Amino acid sequence: MANMFFPDDNLFDSHCHLNDHSFDGDRAEVVGRATAAGVGKIVDIAIDIECSRKAIAHAKEHTGVVFASVGIDPDVIIPSSELFQGNLDKPEAFWDEQMNEVRESILANREQVVAIGETGMDKFWIVRNPDSKPTSEEVEKVMQRQEMLFRKHLELAVETKLPLTIHSRACEEDCLRIVLDYPQARGVFHSYTGSYEIAKKVLDAGWSLGVNGIITFKSAQELRAMYKKILGAISSDAQPADFYAKGVYFETDAPYLSPEGKRGERNEPAAVAKIWEKLLIL
Ligand SMILES: [Zn+2]
Repeated sequence: MANMFFPDDNLFDSHCHLNDHSFDGDRAEVVGRATAAGVGKIVDIAIDIECSRKAIAHAKEHTGVVFASVGIDPDVIIPSSELFQGNLDKPEAFWDEQMNEVRESILANREQVVAIGETGMDKFWIVRNPDSKPTSEEVEKVMQRQEMLFRKHLELAVETKLPLTIHSRACEEDCLRIVLDYPQARGVFHSYTGSYEIAKKVLDAGWSLGVNGIITFKSAQELRAMYKKILGAISSDAQPADFYAKGVYFETDAPYLSPEGKRGERNEPAAVAKIWEKLLIL
């Protein structure tokens, strides 16, 4: 498998929220530091229509370095999320309209948009808010709506031939089951922290995994062991392309998930260099 995002095989940040407001004061410097660290390209990931617009604007501002991924995060259908705003009761036509905007933004900006997402499904909200105690009907409704929105992204990916960046938190198996319905689609299960068994199935189906700062956390021995098993022996002169060929992509998920030593601080795409170093000595 060749790099599904770019024609070259250099090191790049496949998942970063450069459009996040925390970068508003120094975005150009952040991009400059990434380039200086050898991270030549950054995929700016949207979580809604507004972020999609911003990501495209950043791509136009930093031609050839910043690229956009457009779409709607499952966060919009998570009851405890800021983005939720009564979205559970909105009709499917509302989401069709939103997806039409996403489609238009792709067609009008083919040079800038290299991916769709982030999209996917998330069940972590149930665990994260133990006090909310949703009924099983509520959980089922939320998951059905998330699946509906996810499928619309998959259809758009097939139509536009773009890769997807998938958020699958606590939902890896469901996401895999759904993507298998779209044999022409491809993409990355970003920030993958699920089991080895599901990871293997994801890779066998031709999909990829996104690895980020979590792999550097002291507590992440199991995750490191899993990637070691997936990647096999890594030679000391391995290149990023060797990882892409095995279906493993580097990402920061900045401004989140700063690597060990910087946890809690704002993360930035230059940190891909740290993740790359860590994977070389797994
Ligand atoms: Zn993200």
